[in-house]
Amino acid sequence: MPRRFSPWNLVDRSASLVGELSLDELPRVKTVASSVEEGLSYEIQGGKDLLGNPSLAIQLKGQLTVTCERCLEGMPIPLECNSTLQLKTQVQAATRSGEHELTDDCDVLIVERDDKLDALDLLQDEILLALPLVPAHATIEECGEKVASLLSTQQTSNSGTNDEDKPSNKPFADLASLLGKAD
Ligand SMILES: [Zn+2]
Repeated sequence: MPRRFSPWNLVDRSASLVGELSLDELPRVKTVASSVEEGLSYEIQGGKDLLGNPSLAIQLKGQLTVTCERCLEGMPIPLECNSTLQLKTQVQAATRSGEHELTDDCDVLIVERDDKLDALDLLQDEILLALPLVPAHATIEECGEKVASLLSTQQTSNSGTNDEDKPSNKPFADLASLLGKAD
């Protein structure tokens, strides 16, 4: 794919960049995802948003495997992003800044007309935004036996420490020693 493209040119021509991504092209995503299944397809479409502003519509679809933070096993995550980035030049952004911004919820990209953007950088931003901050299986059961056994050892060691911290909570220990003395 062409890494660098002119977003304004894409908008002027109402053209789009379409293709598939491999994980090797996405070094920043690779730090959190271990594999891409069934291909990760993207489309960057230049045009106008609903309010008629120049914009890039970004679509991503595919499936990534990330690591569950609880059991550290691979976990598939379906990825489907649809976002619109409004395009402005620095001058346009500056003259707008004093006005009431009606499109607060819309992301704005400030790019000069002659400037180019790195498509992979843009797509990586979108993918990382779409991924959960702390990926984990929805339920502990889904994490499987590994976590179940980890949790049970943790509980055993926890109750052990609690007893040592509060010896007064062991009434039967005293009783046992009293019985021992009585013998
Ligand atoms: Zn898990």
